[in-house]
Amino acid sequence: MVNWYSKGFEEAEAQVAANSQSFTRDFFLKSGDEVQFNILDDEPLNIRDHFLNGKGWFTCIQGIGDENCPLCESGNKATNHFVFNVLDPREYTSKATGETYKNQVKIWRVGITLLRVLEKKRAKYGPLTKLDITISKMGQGQSVSYDIEVDKREKAVKLPEEEKLYDLTEVLAPKTRKELVNIMNNVSSPAPSSDNDDDDDEEIDWKKS
Ligand SMILES: [Zn+2]
Repeated sequence: MVNWYSKGFEEAEAQVAANSQSFTRDFFLKSGDEVQFNILDDEPLNIRDHFLNGKGWFTCIQGIGDENCPLCESGNKATNHFVFNVLDPREYTSKATGETYKNQVKIWRVGITLLRVLEKKRAKYGPLTKLDITISKMGQGQSVSYDIEVDKREKAVKLPEEEKLYDLTEVLAPKTRKELVNIMNNVSSPAPSSDNDDDDDEEIDWKKS
């Protein structure tokens, strides 16, 4: 049986770490957006994941261990996603804190169509990390389309001092079946940490899609 508490100072830190691990800032575009940004990984990390309304993305666990994926069982279709760290220059002000942010590292989940476009650019212009990428998004859902233009950079992108890359294998690591079931049932899902505040504007975007 799983304890409903842990005791001690170290355990307290471990608990907070466990609950904030899944927090990532995601890179989103709304229809009509045009952004010049940078990809920070030479290659994507390729995963299958599920989208849960209001809760975000969860890596599919079907076929990777002994447990069946409860999201697959529920009829939620897994998506192939190819994930990069990116540097998003866009500036925005958090409604919750009133603070303004820009130049943040985010993770970008790309579908196969867009990945193939990026692959073509890479073949023609060289490593993605050495390109300034301008992307614009038009339309939504089934009728979405992207336009991508690139410019070669002299050197690699320099991150702002306080930013670092996400360890993708860590932040995208699959949860257990039990954790997924709890999330699906809305039981004991971790309270949004205060770190989530700067995510406000974008949260709305993925809830709608
Ligand atoms: Zn699944």
